Amino acid sequence: MKAPSFAYAKPRSLTQALELLERPGAKILAGGQSLIPALNMRLSAPELLVDITGLEGLSKIEVRNGSVRIGALCTHTRVERSAEVREHLPLVAEAVAHIAHPAIRNRGTLGGSLALADPNAELPACALALDATLIVAGRKGERRVQAAGFFKALFETDLKPDEILVGIEFPKATKSVFLELARRQGDYAIVGLAGVSRGAEKRIALFGLAATPVLLKPKSLEEAKKALPTPNGDLYNSPATKRHLAGVLLERAWTRLS
Ligand SMILES: Cc1cc2nc3c(=O)[nH]c(=O)nc-3n(C[C@H](O)[C@H](O)[C@H](O)COP(=O)(O)OP(=O)(O)OC[C@H]3O[C@@H](n4cnc5c(N)ncnc54)[C@H](O)[C@@H]3O)c2cc1C
Repeated sequence: MKAPSFAYAKPRSLTQALELLERPGAKILAGGQSLIPALNMRLSAPELLVDITGLEGLSKIEVRNGSVRIGALCTHTRVERSAEVREHLPLVAEAVAHIAHPAIRNRGTLGGSLALADPNAELPACALALDATLIVAGRKGERRVQAAGFFKALFETDLKPDEILVGIEFPKATKSVFLELARRQGDYAIVGLAGVSRGAEKRIALFGLAATPVLLKPKSLEEAKKALPTPNGDLYNSPATKRHLAGVLLERAWTRLS
């Protein structure tokens, strides 16, 4: 199938992009790795695609005092290859390597992945485990949203249709673990786990279990296992299988976070 017809604009400034997004039926296009297949399958029919890849300043990786700010337009490949990300956010560097394959990672963006909020995606879980702050631009200025309040439901976030996710601030974390079970390398996860240990606190985000990643802040492995939600099954895995797999990942992660 072919995509339905749409108008296309490539703004050169954030202000211009935000103006265009006020038009009825306008939708942001970033790397296009999820949106274009959705158009081709006629799952989405926007009237205007606002291509934000020409906006300057949204592809930077900046190390600050206690955090690393990554621009929303940073591709998965750029994040994967960044020495700063590997040093201060090893969780994110590890997770990105599990996304699809190089051709998709070369175009897909961090902001696109978080804005899409696929329940089986790696990066929303990392944002939650790291307690990241998402920076959202609108016509009235910027607002900051904690990851815990950003992922609302299946493919649904706190973003309004006329807002642009411009950057993500990740507090640094050097003790972390990323684990994923998938049928083949590069497939979306069946179940995955992003865990961070800061002092006595452990933050573990499980994905593939529910409509959004699930955050646990357990004191013990037993407490973590008890707090597991009843998972959603999928075409291939029953809720019981998914719960079992999540328990296995928790056991593997626990010693590495302790
Ligand atoms: C075969 C295949 C396998 C894949 N496997 C995986 C996988 O294993 N794990 C995984 O996580 N992903 C996977 N992906 C998806 C990939 O990671 C995408 O790059 C990502 O989900 C979306 O990023 P994008 O930049 O391509 O966004 P686009 O496709 O351009 O946009 C996706 C959505 O986000 C919105 N959007 C994009 N950027 C912004 C922004 N800055 N602010 C507000 N809204 C925005 C768009 O309007 C659209 O609704 C796969 C894709 C394909 C085609």
